[in-house]
Amino acid sequence: MKMSKMFVQTLREFPSDAEVISHKLLVRAGYIRKLSMGIYNYLPLMWRVIKKVENIIREEMDKAGAQELLMPFVQPKELWEESGRWGAYGGELMRLKDRHGREMCLGPTHEEIITAIARDGLKSYKQLPVNLYQIQSKFRDERRPRFGLLRGREFIMKDAYSFDINQEGLEKEYKNMWEAYTRIFKRCGLETKAVQSDSGAIGGSVSHEFMVITDQDSGENDVFYCDCDYAANSNHAVSKLPEAKIVGEWKEAQIIDTPNTHSIEELTKFLHIPATLIVKCLVYIVDKAPVLALIRADRTVEETKLMNAVGGTDIRIATAGEIEEIMKVNGFDGEKGFIGPNGIKEYNGYKVQIVADETVKDMKNFVIGINKKDVHGIGYNWGKEVELPSVVTDIRLAEAGDICPVCGKPLKVTRGIEVGNIFQLGTKYSKPMNAVFLDQNGKSQPYVMGCYGIGVTRTAAAAVEAHHDEHGIIWPLSIAPYHAVVIPVSTKDELQMKVANDIYQTLLKHGVEAVLDDRDERAGVKFKDADLIGFPYRITVGKTITDGLVEFKSRQSEELSNIKPEEAAEIVITAVHQEK
Ligand code: ATP
Ligand code: MG
Repeated sequence: MKMSKMFVQTLREFPSDAEVISHKLLVRAGYIRKLSMGIYNYLPLMWRVIKKVENIIREEMDKAGAQELLMPFVQPKELWEESGRWGAYGGELMRLKDRHGREMCLGPTHEEIITAIARDGLKSYKQLPVNLYQIQSKFRDERRPRFGLLRGREFIMKDAYSFDINQEGLEKEYKNMWEAYTRIFKRCGLETKAVQSDSGAIGGSVSHEFMVITDQDSGENDVFYCDCDYAANSNHAVSKLPEAKIVGEWKEAQIIDTPNTHSIEELTKFLHIPATLIVKCLVYIVDKAPVLALIRADRTVEETKLMNAVGGTDIRIATAGEIEEIMKVNGFDGEKGFIGPNGIKEYNGYKVQIVADETVKDMKNFVIGINKKDVHGIGYNWGKEVELPSVVTDIRLAEAGDICPVCGKPLKVTRGIEVGNIFQLGTKYSKPMNAVFLDQNGKSQPYVMGCYGIGVTRTAAAAVEAHHDEHGIIWPLSIAPYHAVVIPVSTKDELQMKVANDIYQTLLKHGVEAVLDDRDERAGVKFKDADLIGFPYRITVGKTITDGLVEFKSRQSEELSNIKPEEAAEIVITAVHQEK
């Protein structure tokens, strides 16, 4: 490709709406352009990168025994009703109607469609196991699309689905996919950590996420991990607690004035006590129902865990107005900061569910809200002044320094970008959709399913997060849009142009994807663009060509060397062949 003909516009400045480096660099280097919120054009350079990521995925999935197909992007409501997700999926599902008024949705994932395909075609145990996958655009009306390709509304995903006759078969395939994923990300130049996670809207019990570990803001997930190999997403991380003082000094229960203590901080300051003596009471709205969460006040509620504890699909914290209203309809005159579990029974036609975190169970003589403004109960105890809720479970966010549930050492925390995940679905879809096969005894059984996703566009963006410097992108050779750029310093100089062109032709002949920067621009401009775009190798033909030498640079090492043109070409050709 000649640079003069290449469709690429690099920008001088970073886009003003970009927060993370991959978004900034991909826009500035001319890879993507925003069309609408969370929706991007993949320009030619980006499309080359995407195709490379896709091909690595294809090769490894095929090698692992999976078969590729392609399902429609638009899906009918009926199948989603069969699985029960039409109602359950929430705001991310983009629903639409066709001209006949039939309801459809844009595919955010394809469990329903693939299960229907299997149900039609896989009737006997003899046809199983099967793993089917596709690579396709998905649409999710994300609440907060951001970070460019890392969290778009339209994005490309590889999704695979396995069908087995039993749990044992599923576990084998799960491991097979785990290994394929490890190879895929490694070949994309990414180091990943497999972490335990919550299964979310997809469902099922066991699941792991493949995380690219990063210290950047782009890592949306907190990953808790330990030297012993334990690693989990914050929505799933279990921790044991270090000892804390949880017995208050007040021997008798009493109500005391605590004016204007709307926050835990204000309350601890006012009472001169540590937060570990306070039962914090938070109000959430899960789907539409009110939920009170009780937790020791030094700890934070993990919303996904709380949502799972009450079996919902959407969670948010209640507003101060709603909290007041809840107290009012239950006969109290209180304010945010003073709510407590006693006597809070219903709201908006729903019974109020109360969930306690394990941290409150052993507290004694504690402080708690009693639904009255400017006072708190102190010296309270479970079973006396206040009942311990019937649901006591882990709804807390783990913290660095908490104790590892496996080996007992302190947990560490880091940030991660989830590039893929694998789920053991079991019969979550096959049962309600009546997707069955005949087993060896002629008995009909639901398939035992797994599903396996990779964010293709997110993986490409994660590679930029992992590999860049202040000058631009440093693509791993395996997914770079082009392998090398050849730059004649002066296009007017006949010798320079001839040698540059010769090297370019040699590279092409040997299967190297090369670019000749034949633009009539200053060398400095060409160098800047080369660094920004991130070509793995740069061969510059300048004045030293009169001594028979060109300048060779690897984007990774940034080292410059003056070598013969043939040598430079040879290094690139060898590297590219090794990569393939
Ligand atoms: P997240 O927790 O980041 O929203 P998810 O759990 O919803 O991800 P899955 O439904 O399992 O993700 O989708 C499979 C893969 O698709 C994810 O591992 C991720 O790499 C990618 N992906 C999911 N949502 C997006 C998005 N909005 N933009 C880009 N890639 C995405
Ligand atoms: Mg999601």
